[in-house]
Amino acid sequence: QLTAAAILRGGPADEFVAREDFPPLTHYIDGEFVPSYSDEVFTLVNPATGENLVSVPNGTADDTDAAIAAAKAALPAWRRTTPKTRAELLLKIADRIEASSGLFKRLEALNTGKPHPVADDDVSSTVDVFRFAAGAARAFSEVGSAEYVEGHTSILVREPIGVVGAVVPWNYPLLMGAWKIAPILAAGNTLVVKPSEQTPLSLLKLVEVVGDLIPAGVLNVVLGTGPVVGERLSTSPDVDLVALTGSVRSGKAVATAAAGSLKRVHLELGGKAPVVILPDADLALAAEGVRTAGYWNAGQECGAGTRVLVHESVADRFTSLLADQVRTLKVGEPWAGDDVEIGPMISEAHFGRVTAFLERAIADGAVPVVGGAPLPGPGFFIAPTVLADVAPRSEASQEEIFGPVVTIETFADTAEAIERANEVPYGLAASVWTRDASDAIELPKQLDFGTVWVNAHLVIANEAPWGGFKGSGYGRDLSAYALQDYSRTKHVQINHSR
Ligand code: NAD
Repeated sequence: QLTAAAILRGGPADEFVAREDFPPLTHYIDGEFVPSYSDEVFTLVNPATGENLVSVPNGTADDTDAAIAAAKAALPAWRRTTPKTRAELLLKIADRIEASSGLFKRLEALNTGKPHPVADDDVSSTVDVFRFAAGAARAFSEVGSAEYVEGHTSILVREPIGVVGAVVPWNYPLLMGAWKIAPILAAGNTLVVKPSEQTPLSLLKLVEVVGDLIPAGVLNVVLGTGPVVGERLSTSPDVDLVALTGSVRSGKAVATAAAGSLKRVHLELGGKAPVVILPDADLALAAEGVRTAGYWNAGQECGAGTRVLVHESVADRFTSLLADQVRTLKVGEPWAGDDVEIGPMISEAHFGRVTAFLERAIADGAVPVVGGAPLPGPGFFIAPTVLADVAPRSEASQEEIFGPVVTIETFADTAEAIERANEVPYGLAASVWTRDASDAIELPKQLDFGTVWVNAHLVIANEAPWGGFKGSGYGRDLSAYALQDYSRTKHVQINHSR
């Protein structure tokens, strides 16, 4: 199904993806790639060219039920495995991904249009997520025992939750898949993963590459849309927890659907991260930081530092430094060179959404200092943009744009900066830029965001928890907290009195 044009556009096959490198394009259930219950398909598009790539099955509730049944059947044996067994398996998974990292990188670039530096980072981070989870599986065996009642010994055990449904977005198809799969398996659960309908290739490749290592049914992949497959994972009485990384709208749909069976819900949703720049900040460092944090993955990043709040006394200088930085960002197709930093929007629909955001912001009075408009096709590219004079509480100031667009607002004093930073409905990530030690310690306490960086933004460590407050959801990815979220506590009390 891969069009010749798509391969040719991708450059030489050894630099891009040859037809035989594609994974089987169907669901992976109970250890096998299986046909779909329906003939309905979803056509994937190469966002860098706008061309159709391949078609994949558009899964149904029946496909989802088959995967859930496989995960349920595999659970009793898998949950009894020792942490050591699971850790060894996770390490082997990491090794296999690492051994095929070039292919994973190219598949991800083909399906999402992301440039090589981002795809490289996605794959190497994915490997490390599995390695971290392997270590965490063994360190995380929280067991306690005490005699709280005379003659009765209490044993506290941490055990797997059961069958987990995991729903993954399109911005980091492989990495966000790993953020779910690794801790869910490490904690002894079985799972059904649904990749985004737009970007299933790398996750299918993952199960193709590591499938033989994992007992059948422990890890299943069902392709399809949120309202069908995601909804079934959320409502099924045989799923014990549903975890979603996605938009606020999908998070609300999942939480509402999950309420019927009272299953646990884990939500990593959108963000609108403020970048608070105090008058004493190293402005050049901040401008460099925003060049990366605001435009990484073309701004299609939940923690992206896209909402600059800068003290009015240094606003002009910072704006000019940032503009200089942003003008150096190279936009292009992933195969246009290793120095390309900005790829396309994921789809024509998202491209239209970001374009409309820009038009409304500029009509509202924002000034495009750099960029401000879409770039000519055929791919879905938006010029890296800096918008100055963004009005407080305007749409551009409050809503997640999810494109290469950084907005700049000013503030008069620190109290105002904190209030304005917190006024967005999201609470995922924020940063503060200052040289003052007191502000570096005090301001993060007042910011209502799950991650707060000081003099950095978007620097992620697999050892540290990632997740939001407020509209950004609840639950934590990465770190030992993820294993905690994917396990439950049991109290066993033994009466040994005579
Ligand atoms: P999306 O919500 O449209 O889709 C995400 C996933 O949810 C997809 O697999 C989709 O099919 C599924 N989905 C959609 N409707 C659903 C429903 N009713 N029930 C169950 N599943 C459903 O989001 P997207 O456009 O793919 O991704 C972008 C969004 O994800 C942004 O808002 C971004 O901030 C957020 N995101 C958050 C994080 C984080 O860690 N907090 C990371 C990456 C992306």
